Amino acid sequence: MFNIALQLEEPWKLAHIEFEGRDQAWHLYIDFERGTTFSCPFCGSACKEYDTEKKQWRHLDFWNWKTFMHARLPRVKCRSCNKVTQVPVKWARALSHLSNVKRIAIDETSSRPGHRYDIDVCGSRM
Ligand SMILES: [Zn+2]
Repeated sequence: MFNIALQLEEPWKLAHIEFEGRDQAWHLYIDFERGTTFSCPFCGSACKEYDTEKKQWRHLDFWNWKTFMHARLPRVKCRSCNKVTQVPVKWARALSHLSNVKRIAIDETSSRPGHRYDIDVCGSRM
């Protein structure tokens, strides 16, 4: 469910989900495999991660619960460009766009257990 809604792309994975009862909030931890190579945003060379920076985003609410995403964003050091650059992350960009544009539309057709939620995560065409 979350995987689909988040539209994660390789090498990003949903590593861990927590529901914080006190805040009534979901916390989604996104991570990538160790040793992943990323393309340099300038020249496209494959680069190893140089370091990472922990970030947090407010995601669209899931079922009216606050949802936060946490991830380590990698920076790469490109030997060709001799630059250290933050790797652009598609889903993070989408989030910043979405945060105040559109909200998830939930069509709750039934209150029985096992009912279906139709969730329209707007912005899938970005
Ligand atoms: Zn480069």
